[in-house]
Amino acid sequence: MKAAFIEEHGGLEKVKVGEVPVPEIGPDDVLVRVKTAALNHLDIFVRNGLPGVKLTFPHILGSDGAGIVEKVGENVKNVSVGDEVVLNPGINCGTCEFCLKGEHSLCVTFHLLGEHINGTYAEFVRAPAINCYPRPKTLTWEESSAFPLTFLTAWRMLVTKARIKPGEWILIIGIGGGVAVASLQISKLFGLKAIVTSGSDEKLARAKEMGADFTINHNETDFAKEVRKITEKRGVDVVFDSVGKATWKKSLAALAKGGRLVTCGATTGPNPETDVARIFWNQLTIYGSTMGTHAEFREMLKIFEEGKVKPVIDSVFPLDQVPEAQKRMEEKKQFGKIVVKVSE
Ligand SMILES: [Zn+2]
Repeated sequence: MKAAFIEEHGGLEKVKVGEVPVPEIGPDDVLVRVKTAALNHLDIFVRNGLPGVKLTFPHILGSDGAGIVEKVGENVKNVSVGDEVVLNPGINCGTCEFCLKGEHSLCVTFHLLGEHINGTYAEFVRAPAINCYPRPKTLTWEESSAFPLTFLTAWRMLVTKARIKPGEWILIIGIGGGVAVASLQISKLFGLKAIVTSGSDEKLARAKEMGADFTINHNETDFAKEVRKITEKRGVDVVFDSVGKATWKKSLAALAKGGRLVTCGATTGPNPETDVARIFWNQLTIYGSTMGTHAEFREMLKIFEEGKVKPVIDSVFPLDQVPEAQKRMEEKKQFGKIVVKVSE
């Protein structure tokens, strides 16, 4: 089968498109004929090499995917051959103490499709059957692969962790990335007032069209001060931050008393300077969040099934052009999801 894979870690030039064997499946697995896949920053981290993650090469990249079930293992009951499915990329063991509590993304062996194991940039992908969910009929194939990782992540961050409520203020740092865009869509669906930041006026204009109430160019102005102005000195209830070092201190400074900061990443580095006095005096809460549970995936799926939201697609590339697609992501040119069309 055709796939986009790496044979060693490194830059864009390490991504190859060529023939690899079709995966074998186990008794609890399915083989999915992939129609579309989508890019995530994780693909680039995996390509460059993640500390502690040893891959078997060739390694197929890609965490998001949607397609048609081609084959099912002998124990599989929840899906059948021919079903149209989207994949939850988070894979958990089902038996550890965290899985038994339903906290699947805390699983001691938690891993993602395309991260430790082969992913979705291929004509076929093997996945555990419980990771298959019915594809929302309201979405195109391109849209179907454009939400699982980002919307699951954003859903757990905002709905489960920060418990967003109508009328609250949220600050979303770095609009344009998949999780940030999903966070804006979820925030507006829940009736929040959203302030977004970006270094690109073009991305800010797009966010405004999508319902952002205020926009801040964080290259031109101090976003924490700007947030104080917008909220009449009060600050925001919730900050979404996946940037880490470069924004952390200002993100805390933008919070109202009793505010919540939710982080799912540290793209500029994991060791920021912080202001502990501000955290205790203003009684701030910091939530870390990674991916989500099966229950959250099912819950999140409803916003698509009910037609309330559509994932934002930046661009669509054929499988042959995965390197070009990754280049676009590395250059931070995208707004929303970069999709890979694997088959017709
Ligand atoms: Zn587990």
